[in-house]
Amino acid sequence: MSISQIARSIVESPTLRLNEEARLLREKGEPVIHLGIGEPKNKAPIAAILSSAAKLVSGDVKYTPTDGLPSLKKAILRYTEENYDRVVAPENVIVSDGAKQCLFNLLYTLCNPQDEVIVLAPYWVSYPEIVKMVGAVPVVVRPEDGSFVPRWSDVERVVSSSTKALILNSPNNPSGAIYPAAFVEEAVQFCERKGIWLIADDIYHKLVFDGKTAPPACRYSDRDPEATKVILVNGVAKLYGMTGFRIGWIVAPRKLVEVMTNVQAQTTSCVSPVLQAAAEGALTGMQGIVESLRLTMQNNRDVLMNELKTFTGVRVAKPEGTFYALPDFRAFGNDSVAISRTLLQKARVVTVPGREFGMEGHLRLSFAGTVKDLTEGVARMKWALDAESPNEIYIGDRKMVRDWL
Ligand code: PMP
Repeated sequence: MSISQIARSIVESPTLRLNEEARLLREKGEPVIHLGIGEPKNKAPIAAILSSAAKLVSGDVKYTPTDGLPSLKKAILRYTEENYDRVVAPENVIVSDGAKQCLFNLLYTLCNPQDEVIVLAPYWVSYPEIVKMVGAVPVVVRPEDGSFVPRWSDVERVVSSSTKALILNSPNNPSGAIYPAAFVEEAVQFCERKGIWLIADDIYHKLVFDGKTAPPACRYSDRDPEATKVILVNGVAKLYGMTGFRIGWIVAPRKLVEVMTNVQAQTTSCVSPVLQAAAEGALTGMQGIVESLRLTMQNNRDVLMNELKTFTGVRVAKPEGTFYALPDFRAFGNDSVAISRTLLQKARVVTVPGREFGMEGHLRLSFAGTVKDLTEGVARMKWALDAESPNEIYIGDRKMVRDWL
């Protein structure tokens, strides 16, 4: 079969593949614990449900303006002002099907073939693939010192005349690290000086712990909304636990929004008004839900850290935000795919191999699930990876058998 070169170069989304594997095992009655999944367990906010239900029962479900319903854009303007102290116009905003489509539209709009986009490791799995899909080249910068934040000088070293953009995701999926203010400031000032776009993926920006905040990139730009090189990507998926509603948005200079609107008009036309109404409900409804999710995640993070403390061989940096940790499992081998597979086969615990995030030897563990899953999941992992552990064991009320498969 003749398949395009670009499509052939795109790898499957490992997180979505693992979700599917876990679902199939669960369907067969297997006691799977899913520490791979990147979504909170909470139900969507009631304001979101009521608002989308009202739209649905009105029966008036038609195309909307390509760049989004004016009322949702108004809510986004307010959100941007309240959270970022940035006053922008409706023409600076475009709503898409999740932050993922935002990033695709954006990179499609910005990049010529062979342009380079700098991606900082550890990175969200989709960045390099989306960059490749638009014909551009991902240039990965890795921290040299075992930390999760590269030195800014190492980033500058890879900048070339082909560099079009840099993606910054803080707090970071998969490490949970917040990029320090000095790093963000240097990144913004450098990009604005050099005419490089800085894409701030802020999808987790309020899920931060211990009183910390993630310094937002736009804070360090003193340019007006039409001149800034900082582009803000955001959405309702993570903060409101609304992953299935597929609503994200971009705040950018209007010239860019205009072109992204053309791109979207020729692909999806617009986002479903039922889902846009849900996002509007979430943004304009009671915001306590975000704080309560943040507190739950902070507590889950603490539970996971406690469990990992007694996991001999595993080293972990405490996540400062998100709902992911990226512990170092190199004591059990350098092949994170093999370790992850062993854990699924022997202990029925889903983890995501660090290789997918540009951090071989690590595993990404999500703490978005329940405390019970975290404690039992880690107990099973310890049992499965310890060569000395007995062949059969009860963990909670579950009998575990080492040669399960
Ligand atoms: N950016 C990052 C860093 C993410 O982790 C995710 C989701 N896993 C997205 C973007 C995409 O979000 P959405 O579900 O809104 O497409």
